[in-house]
Amino acid sequence: MTKIAFIGLGNMGGPMARNLVTAGYDVCGFDLMPDALSQFEQAGGRTADSVTDAVNDVDVVVSMLPAGKHVKSLYLGEEGVFSRLSEHCPKHCLVIDCSTIEADVAREVGADATARGIPFIDAPVSGGTAGAAAGTLTFMVGGSQVAVDQAKPFLAVMGQNIFHAGEAGAGQVAKICNNMLLAILMAGTSEALKLGINNGLDPAVLSEIMSKSSGGNWVLDKYNPVPGVMPQTPASNGYQGGFMVGLMAKDLGLALNSAKASGTATPLGSLADNLYRMHSARSGTTLDFSSIIKLYDA
Ligand code: NAD
Repeated sequence: MTKIAFIGLGNMGGPMARNLVTAGYDVCGFDLMPDALSQFEQAGGRTADSVTDAVNDVDVVVSMLPAGKHVKSLYLGEEGVFSRLSEHCPKHCLVIDCSTIEADVAREVGADATARGIPFIDAPVSGGTAGAAAGTLTFMVGGSQVAVDQAKPFLAVMGQNIFHAGEAGAGQVAKICNNMLLAILMAGTSEALKLGINNGLDPAVLSEIMSKSSGGNWVLDKYNPVPGVMPQTPASNGYQGGFMVGLMAKDLGLALNSAKASGTATPLGSLADNLYRMHSARSGTTLDFSSIIKLYDA
């Protein structure tokens, strides 16, 4: 049976790893948080006490970590996973990093893997925690065609759409473009909803009207920021779970750095970055990003 190590069992990684278990793979999970480990065990997964134990004699490693520094420290260096895999895994297991990180870091990690003969892809995702739980994520993949083909059966268990964007790092570039747009859409949709509410409209009725009109977008269809409009969204659960404000702020930072490096004007991206930073200063970084609507409270 194919053995998979899954590193990072948080809001996204937890349900993604559970779907691999449900599909019949032998999955060994590792996370720094005991709660994440016990939830994964309850879902039928095996857990390890360390990264080293988790990646011992596996065929595939999948990671879902917060940021580039975590990914670098997981894979690179004397104590890193690549070193461990090259020494102890003669069959050259496949490595899939699903975290959203700097494209440059994905290229650096990818180059180290390639130099050791380890197939590696960057495969950040879109679709949120609901998509992770339902196995309907979109994967934006960077890496060689051979590595992407090798990864497809595993990605297909966790997602519905798999796009090969280009060589190493290309998945990350696609992801930050998408998330900059999502940040702008969430702030813009919140602004429009607040305008309607403050002028006496029922947010559920207004959402329905806009979703079927020219303002329709993913936020209105799947992730309404007003509590009670959609029962399954983080907004209806005190903005808990979902995609944290701090992670969206991180993605906007990645987008703006890439914009500067490539001389691209991103005025709306910059404004969204400022809005999310103002919101973080007032309400902290751990609420779901749809809580940006609180900024529009009087
Ligand atoms: P999260 O904070 O819920 O989960 C990250 C997990 O990684 C945590 O459980 C943490 O303990 C663990 N971790 C950190 N360092 C570790 C290490 N060295 N070894 C093992 N575990 C470690 O975050 P999340 O929402 O699951 O997001 C993960 C990634 O997915 C981020 O890069 C984020 O930008 C991206 N993402 C999130 C969403 C979303 O809706 N939450 C959507 C798309 C992409």
